[in-house]
Amino acid sequence: MTLPTVAIIGRPNVGKSTIFNRIAGDRISIVEDTPGVTRDRIYSHGEWLGKSFAMIDTGGIEISDAPFMEQIKSQAEIAIDEADVIIFMVSGKEGLTSEDEQVAKILYRSDKPVVLAVNKVDNPEKRDDIYDFYALGFGDPYPISGVHGLGLGDLLDQVIASFPEETEQEPDDSIHFSIIGRPNVGKSSMVNALLGEDRVIVSNVAGTTRDAIDTHFTADGTDFTMIDTAGIRKRGKVYENTERYSVMRAMKAIDDSDVALFVINAEEGIREQDKKVAGYAHEAGRGVIIVVNKWDTLKKDNHTQQDFENVIRDEFQYLSYAPIIFVSAKTKQRIEKLPALIKQVNENHKRRIQSSALNDVIMDAVAIHPTPTVSGKRLRIYYATQVAVGPPTFVIFVNDPELMHFSYQRFLDNQIRDHFDFTGTPIRIIKRNRK
Ligand code: GDP
Ligand code: GDP
Repeated sequence: MTLPTVAIIGRPNVGKSTIFNRIAGDRISIVEDTPGVTRDRIYSHGEWLGKSFAMIDTGGIEISDAPFMEQIKSQAEIAIDEADVIIFMVSGKEGLTSEDEQVAKILYRSDKPVVLAVNKVDNPEKRDDIYDFYALGFGDPYPISGVHGLGLGDLLDQVIASFPEETEQEPDDSIHFSIIGRPNVGKSSMVNALLGEDRVIVSNVAGTTRDAIDTHFTADGTDFTMIDTAGIRKRGKVYENTERYSVMRAMKAIDDSDVALFVINAEEGIREQDKKVAGYAHEAGRGVIIVVNKWDTLKKDNHTQQDFENVIRDEFQYLSYAPIIFVSAKTKQRIEKLPALIKQVNENHKRRIQSSALNDVIMDAVAIHPTPTVSGKRLRIYYATQVAVGPPTFVIFVNDPELMHFSYQRFLDNQIRDHFDFTGTPIRIIKRNRK
C-alpha cells in the first residue's frame, strides 16, 4: 500500500509551501485537531481524481548554514531519491532566474518525470509570462496561482498521468511494522536484536520507490515485514543527518505500516522530535507501541518504571491507547515479547465489532451518563455502526452533531474501549445527522 510520492522543488520564495498546503488542505481537516500533536508541514497527502499520493515540500528540509547551492542540491537530491514525480516550481512574477537554471541542471541528471509549474500567474493576462520557461527544457510549463488556486487541476492531471504504472503485486498478508525514533535511540540495535539467530529471515526486498529495505521474517508462526528507517542514514548523503529529513522518512515509513514502534531513549528522555513523529503516527491512524529502549542504562528502584510511564502518559496524552514496553536492545531484555505485542496491536487495529454488540454498549453508556443538553436541546443518539478497520472507525447517527462535544465523544470512546480490546490502536468516531 505504498503511495506514489510527489516532491515539490524550486528556489526559495516561488510558492512551494503555499501550493503544498493548498493541495494537502482538504485532507488535513479530516483529522481531528488533537491537542499536543506537533505538525510538521513537510510531508502530507493529497488526492486528485480519486488517486491518493504522498507529498513532500523539499523546501522545508533545510541544511543549517549550508550555502544556497548546497541547499538546493540536497533538496533536489531528496526529490530525485524520494519522489515518483517531481513538481519543479518557478515564479512567473519574478521570471526565469539563474537559480532556476541551477535547479534544472540537477534535475536533468534524474530520470524521474518532472512537471514544470509556473506559480504566481495570478490572472489570465499574465499567461504570456510563461513562455520563457520553455527554455528550461521540461516541456509545457503549467501556469498556476497559489494564492487564487488557479491552474492546479491541470497541473495535477499531468502529475497523476506521470505516476508509474501500478504493477500487479503478490498478495502480502504479513504484518507491516516500522521502527521509528530519533537517531541514536537504538533502532538498528533493535532490528538486530529482533532478527536474532532464531528468527528466519525470508528476504530483503528493496522498495520500488524508496531505498528503505523491507525485511521479511517469521516469528511465533506469524509473518512480519519490517520497514527499516535506520539503515538509510548510513549511505552518507549530506541531508541524511538533518532532523527534518529523518522526520519525513519516519512519516513515510509510518504510512506504509500497520503498526509503528515508536522508540524512546530511556537515557535521554523525550525530545521535541519524538513528538512530531508520534503525532504523525496518531494522525495517520496506525497502531502504535511505545518502546522505551536502553532500559539497562538506568539505576532503577521500585518507582522508576511507573515514574517513566507517568512522564510518557503526560507528554503523549493522545497516545493513551498505546502500550508501553521497557526493553534493552543491548541485553535483549523483553525484546522477545515484541512480535506477540505487534501481532496483538495489529489484530486490534483490524478489529470489527458487530453492530448489535456496539449498540448495546452505546445504549448502556447513554443510560449511565445521559446525553448533554445544549441551550435546551438534548443530544439524541440513534444508532452506531463500524464503517472501517485499520483504524476502527465508527459512525454515530445523532439528531445534531453539534450537540456532541469533545468530552461526551471521549466518554463514548472510553466506553467502547472498556468493552472491546482496542489496545494500541486509535479509534475514530464520526458524528452524522440521521437523515
Ligand atoms: P516557498 O519558499 O517556495 O515555500 O514559498 P512560499 O510558499 O513561502 O511563498 C513565498 C511568497 O510568495 C509568500 O509571500 C506567498 O504569499 C507568495 N505567493 C505564493 N503563491 C503565490 C501566488 O500564486 N501569487 C502571488 N502573487 N504570490 C504568491
Ligand atoms: P539508531 O541510530 O536509532 O539506529 O541507534 P543505534 O542502534 O545505532 O544505537 C545507537 C547507540 O546506542 C549505539 O552505540 C548502541 O550500541 C547503543 N544502544 C542501542 N541500544 C541500546 C541499549 O538497549 N542499551 C545500551 N546501553 N545501549 C544501546
